[in-house]
Amino acid sequence: MEVRLDHLTKIFTGKKGESTTAVNDFNLTIPDGKLVGLLGPSGCGKSTTLYMISGLLYPTKGRVFFGEEDVTELSPEQRGIGLVFQNYALYPHMTVRKNILFPLENMNLKQRTIDEALRQAYEIESPKEAKIYYQFLTQGETLKNRYRRLESEAKAELRINLGAQHLRLYEIKKTKNTNEISQVKQDVKQKIAELNGQYKQTLLRLKKEFQDAWIAIYPANLKEVSKVMKATYQTIENKFKIKQLQTVIKILLSPKLFQFSKELQKQIQSFIPTSVALVEAARNKNYKKFMNDEAVAMAKLVGIEDQLNKTPSQLSGGQQQRVAIARALVKKPRVLLLDEPLSNLDARLRLQTREEIKRIQKETGITTVFVTHDQEEAMSISDEIILMDFGVEQQKGAPQFVYDQPSNLFVAKFLGTPQINLYDAQLSNGQCSFNGQVVFESQKLKGLKAKEIVIGVRPEGYELDVNGPVALKPLFVETVGRDLSLVATHPYAQTPSVRVILSNEGFAMKANEPIQFKLKPNKTFVFEKATGRRLA
Ligand code: ATP
Repeated sequence: MEVRLDHLTKIFTGKKGESTTAVNDFNLTIPDGKLVGLLGPSGCGKSTTLYMISGLLYPTKGRVFFGEEDVTELSPEQRGIGLVFQNYALYPHMTVRKNILFPLENMNLKQRTIDEALRQAYEIESPKEAKIYYQFLTQGETLKNRYRRLESEAKAELRINLGAQHLRLYEIKKTKNTNEISQVKQDVKQKIAELNGQYKQTLLRLKKEFQDAWIAIYPANLKEVSKVMKATYQTIENKFKIKQLQTVIKILLSPKLFQFSKELQKQIQSFIPTSVALVEAARNKNYKKFMNDEAVAMAKLVGIEDQLNKTPSQLSGGQQQRVAIARALVKKPRVLLLDEPLSNLDARLRLQTREEIKRIQKETGITTVFVTHDQEEAMSISDEIILMDFGVEQQKGAPQFVYDQPSNLFVAKFLGTPQINLYDAQLSNGQCSFNGQVVFESQKLKGLKAKEIVIGVRPEGYELDVNGPVALKPLFVETVGRDLSLVATHPYAQTPSVRVILSNEGFAMKANEPIQFKLKPNKTFVFEKATGRRLA
């Protein structure tokens, strides 16, 4: 299921009227079946975006699409999403099995399955009418949701505004200035009356709008449509009755004629059209067994089938998170949303669980959005990452591509461990220099105006060269397997120390003696200092 966000914006309004733009004009397409990591620092709007996809939060502006369907007005239930939170949110008193079963038991699976079978039956028997009827049903539901939401938003706004007036009164009473108090009292009284009046007007307007919209979607021929559908239902019911009768005959028949009755049964069976067979299957299904089988299948998928009879407190954090994932998947959601699902796990379990999530996502093929502030986690797990800052998309793409081709300074700084090394420098005549000494040049910089820049060099972007233009003063060296990590200082570095990853072979260092490097062009980036925009 492709997920598309169209100009999605969320502005929160606080009690005193102050506003926070959590997500700003966000456009995004998450391809069907992909795992996308939503990445960014704390407070950048990741969770808000996720909750708007889920339907737990309503956008201030913009729409959410699942495939071609506009789901903006639909509840999480209607959207068909599975949600996994950081804190697992399992029911502690229930066994693992019960926890996984819970969403299925709660959704009235039997009635839903029968309704769905009936819908398919109607679509076979009276397709034209079924289309009109179900389209009206969906549009009606969307309208109801929309106006319910608008009403509750108006109510919330009234509450905030009334609260502000009461606060005003409370503050002024503290001054003990009787004149002022009575003036403000009067004013507040008037404002409150105005606010209540406005609220009533809004409700009336909404009611009128709703009625007009309802009339607009109401099919002119709904009566006839309902008649045809009722008749279809009756036909299906009658066929059931005939079948039941046949069963009674079978019981009453003498054993001698039993074989004949069996043959008859077979023939009748073959006469029953698909539509009746569909409804029959839905009615006769053993739901208890079906649900249990589903729960076991999900437990197997996430690798906890031997833990089904334990309670959550008897499981490790990683196992608990798997239960939460199984519980989110058991309803066969159209989209799976994971909000920092690994944050509560220790380092080893994090690694293991993230591999598991990747495997489960591949096996199920469910479009998945994974929210995290951990760049390593996002890069290792995602088919595509989206970097956000201050509610705005900074860059998206395959993890390696975004790492290799950061489009701005924020992205370059956010991705990579150890972090990219940054130096303040100047650009002139297509050359980057430290106070006049040229350290890097690129064709892409030719023709650009002289300006202050930031040079970013990945730790693996340095090459030993006695004639190299960059001299680093070594502090110490850490050996990591075949590689070594040199920690050094540079007068123009933005940080107290820079880090260089080099091959262990042939490296020699003398204390306090600078080491000369040249910069690898594919690991060195140039940014405009004022905007952070990448220049080369
Ligand atoms: P974290 O990783 O810390 O969860 P995040 O990237 O998920 O951060 P959000 O939770 O989406 O960020 O928050 C984005 C911004 O919106 C923040 O500035 C936050 O304070 C603000 N915000 C979130 N929820 C609300 C709310 N209910 N009311 C007011 N402001 C909110």
